[in-house]
Amino acid sequence: MIVTSYSRNVLSGTSRAWRVWSLSDGYLEMPASLLRDSQDSPVQQAGRAGTLRLSVNCFALAGPGVDGVLIDSGGGGWHPTVGRLEQTMADAGIDPASITVLALTHTHQDHLHGLLTADGRVLFPNLQTIVISEAAVESFFAETHLARFRPLLKSIRDGDRVAERLRAVALPGHAPGHTGYAFDTNEDRFLFMGDVIHVPALQFENPEFSWGYDDDQPAARATRQRVLHEAAGAGTWIAGAHLGWPGIGRVVRRGGAYGYEPAAG
Ligand SMILES: [Zn+2]
Repeated sequence: MIVTSYSRNVLSGTSRAWRVWSLSDGYLEMPASLLRDSQDSPVQQAGRAGTLRLSVNCFALAGPGVDGVLIDSGGGGWHPTVGRLEQTMADAGIDPASITVLALTHTHQDHLHGLLTADGRVLFPNLQTIVISEAAVESFFAETHLARFRPLLKSIRDGDRVAERLRAVALPGHAPGHTGYAFDTNEDRFLFMGDVIHVPALQFENPEFSWGYDDDQPAARATRQRVLHEAAGAGTWIAGAHLGWPGIGRVVRRGGAYGYEPAAG
């Protein structure tokens, strides 16, 4: 059976045994020229002179063996338009003190710096583990203002178990060690895919379009094609850091490419 209830920001199964919250951290205005075609030229449709607004989303899980797991922590004080996670969690009724495991998709600022609030407080006082790809550990260590969190790091590889029914999935191309997390509830499958899609309005229809901050555009392009192909085939819910609100939806085949159907309220 599929997800049957969706209200504002929480999906749950018919069994009520698990829940997934989509938690907005804010947004980022980025130059439209960052969207690149397969020749690495700016995409005309995105508008050369304009900007694109990217949602910034984190996700929390609840259920047997996954209580207290958070996927990405948002941008904290890195930029004035992000760092809303604390307020969004309060709105959702989630106490930051209940978060014990943070699973990072990668270490870019908009995913990592939310470990600290804009005024410098530790947002998750009971955090025990920060799950991170072994290939991303070095970039975490480069963030010296987060040095206090280094003892919590637990490095993982593709396929490793992170929590009950939650596994790491290597999604190479965007950043060193870029990793998704596959969550199988027995009713539904989710893939928390981090930064596979930045501009949902154009990249489902044109999965060859890449993002200027993808470290390795050919690898990122191949990952995007694979994720969309597999999600469309399996009916997997994809949850993306930069998908428009609510940040979770399904992929459908459309012509030779794909479409996106957001989870509906
Ligand atoms: Zn990002």
